[in-house]
Amino acid sequence: LFNKDLGQHILKNPLVAQGIVEKAGLKSTDTVLEVGPGTGNLTVRILETAKKVIAVEMDPRLSAELSKRVQGKPEQKRLNIMVGDFLKTDLPYFDVCISNTPYQISSPLVFKLLEHRPLFRCAILMFQREFAMRLIAKPGDNLYCRLSVNVQLYAKVDHIMKVGRNNFKPPPQVESSVVRIEPRNPPPPISFKEWDGLMRIIFVRKNKTLAASFKTTSVLQIIENNYKTFCSTNDMMIEDTLNIKAKVISVLQSVNMAESRASKLDIDDFLKQTFTFVNIIIEVR
Ligand code: SAM
Repeated sequence: LFNKDLGQHILKNPLVAQGIVEKAGLKSTDTVLEVGPGTGNLTVRILETAKKVIAVEMDPRLSAELSKRVQGKPEQKRLNIMVGDFLKTDLPYFDVCISNTPYQISSPLVFKLLEHRPLFRCAILMFQREFAMRLIAKPGDNLYCRLSVNVQLYAKVDHIMKVGRNNFKPPPQVESSVVRIEPRNPPPPISFKEWDGLMRIIFVRKNKTLAASFKTTSVLQIIENNYKTFCSTNDMMIEDTLNIKAKVISVLQSVNMAESRASKLDIDDFLKQTFTFVNIIIEVR
């Protein structure tokens, strides 16, 4: 019996499993990281080409089953099973990641992969359909959101294939999709903390104008505090007449972005103006 809390839905359609592995474009020299191998339906296919597979599985029952599956075979030596929570595991070197992921850890999983160094070549990952659509969403799409920009800042994401519920045992509640993630190498040289701070402000209401998003009392309060801290740590005088709202609006207007809406701006628009934004916020913390 499968454990629902661990999102255990075994991929039973061999054509889908084959398709996922083929999309990875594996080389015979590759080390592959697999998250949640389960009973190993993807694992055995990956082992046909890759030099080595490191599989991180949280459920010791399934890891035992997988180890039995390769026992006494030549592949056994090329499979390293780590039993534990992927999110708490120190990742070894890998070239490619392939995973039919447990959906409840989708978002932290993606960011953990993108933070890992050295950068991997590509990742082929199965997600809940809506999550996948958020990852690939472009400006103007309904699902374009903070997740879209934060991931696309660091990677090119493509939709590979739709996978219906009935390809799994037991079938999950939702439809699935496979995406391909290819990290931008080198990654853009910006502070993720500052970037994400800005995205949190402007994607709360992504259809509002940037001027309106920044004019919120709580946002202005943060900016004013940051500005004051910045001034005092840099031995700068704070103007008696400080009007933070007017200051913010005038900066936005100077770059023609006061009337722009987050929902319509792409990564390049944001990157072009990062310095402006950082000036406004003087580092969102
Ligand atoms: N890869 C297999 C397949 O395609 O048939 C199983 C996929 S199933 C959707 C997800 C797998 O991830 C399960 O084996 C589950 O036990 C495992 N899992 C769940 N949470 C995990 C975590 N935090 N770290 C590692 N593995 C996890």
